[in-house]
Amino acid sequence: MFDVIVIGGGPGGYRAAYLLGRKNFKVALVEEENIGGVCLNQGCIPFKSYLHTARTIQEANCLVKENVIAGNAVSLSQSLLCEKREAIIKGLRQGVMNSLKTAGITVYKGTASIAECNDGMLAFHVNGEIIKGKKAVIATGSEEKQLQGIEDASTFSRVIGSREMLEFTEIPDNIDIIGGGAIGLETASFLCDVGCKVTVIEAGSHIGGGLDQEIADGLKKILGKKGIQIFTDTKFARVKDQTLIYESSGNEQTKSPEYVIVSIGRKPRIDGKMLDVLGVKYSIDGIEIDDSCRTSNENVYACGDVTGKLMLAHTAYQQARVIADSMAGIDAKMNYDHIPRIIYSNPEVLSIGVSEEDCKKRGIYFEARTLPMTYSGKYFAENGKDGAKAKMIINEEKRMVGFHMIGNCASEISLAVEMMIANHMRIDSVQNIIYPHPTYGEIICDLAEAFS
Ligand code: FAD
Repeated sequence: MFDVIVIGGGPGGYRAAYLLGRKNFKVALVEEENIGGVCLNQGCIPFKSYLHTARTIQEANCLVKENVIAGNAVSLSQSLLCEKREAIIKGLRQGVMNSLKTAGITVYKGTASIAECNDGMLAFHVNGEIIKGKKAVIATGSEEKQLQGIEDASTFSRVIGSREMLEFTEIPDNIDIIGGGAIGLETASFLCDVGCKVTVIEAGSHIGGGLDQEIADGLKKILGKKGIQIFTDTKFARVKDQTLIYESSGNEQTKSPEYVIVSIGRKPRIDGKMLDVLGVKYSIDGIEIDDSCRTSNENVYACGDVTGKLMLAHTAYQQARVIADSMAGIDAKMNYDHIPRIIYSNPEVLSIGVSEEDCKKRGIYFEARTLPMTYSGKYFAENGKDGAKAKMIINEEKRMVGFHMIGNCASEISLAVEMMIANHMRIDSVQNIIYPHPTYGEIICDLAEAFS
């Protein structure tokens, strides 16, 4: 009999299992594929390895073009990149397995399905065995949304998702990406930097999901300059006569790309039968949870993408921490207000807190300032005038409530900005921090000073 059975070994599941194990709970973790989930095996980590390589190539070739570096243009060896990716994944997966071992977790490889839920006892089938526990954490993650009708294109284009893109052994000549959200843009950025002709088709009026519009427009311009063709307000309509038909304001355009990558978002991976037996409320948008990540069954918690909140690995990590604390009797609650959202395109994009549009929609008083990243001497020295910018939003008490930025390094700056917003810092306190010079982070001080 386990204290807790965790179903799903992605960031939500393995982190919850690890933290519970460290608190001396007897924990079983069930994973049907590979420990690490989408994040480690098909998402965050392999994508970042690909993007880093592509950006290095792009930067080197820029310097070759400027004759600052002598020699020929460099290019990608995709098969070696695949090998490198596998080595990185293997190493990190082993690291996770080691930490689970040190926390005393029993790991089962197999699919968990419900056996019964009676008198405070939960039982699951795993590989013909039954495992029992007092409590459970559901962390079954998410899966790609499908686009109806696109499968008909498979006679003339290869229709794939982001996972299959990682398996390319050669970079195709041209690709259409349907969906201009974070994953679509990261995919576009990688492929463009390694020499593929990329078109992005986005149904909404802006790329980048819920980005601040000024930032989304700036990003579209920069990516366009790099050679990525982006069509907003444009939808996949149908397949006809060996062509894809896209529609925009009643006008149609046709294309027959070598590949089509469908990247229109992800949906929670729900096992309805399991949740019904457990008495857990859910919808197609995810498992319903309270601020402590507890479901409608007081002995069942849920974390990660399956809850349908901000589908990010660090949301899952934080929910896992809240669950471990709650089960240990510590009062812990989730706050989704300042979770950093980063697009690791080249250049990167960061968004924390409210956007200008959020403030207008909610009728909140705000002031906003935007500056080009060239205000940072280091940024200018390394990237030149690439169109990158940063934007700060403050409220009537002059506290920082939003920060948005385009520029490589945005991911590393996110932590400092998150602390400022989470701690409701006023701009005078933000100005009072000593910013090492030269750093990209100096833009934060410049923005705070722009309000005075
Ligand atoms: P998952 O990682 O999906 O793990 C769920 C696990 O549960 C899976 O391993 C699955 O096999 C297992 N499972 C499901 N059902 C069962 C069952 N019945 N029995 C046993 N096992 C089961 N997020 C970021 O924060 N930063 C990024 O840069 C980033 N980049 C991304 C890039 C891509 C291409 C993609 C697709 C996603 C990216 N994400 C990123 C999102 C991130 O990967 C997810 O938010 C994160 O993996 C969610 O963790 P999770 O534990 O909820 O689910």
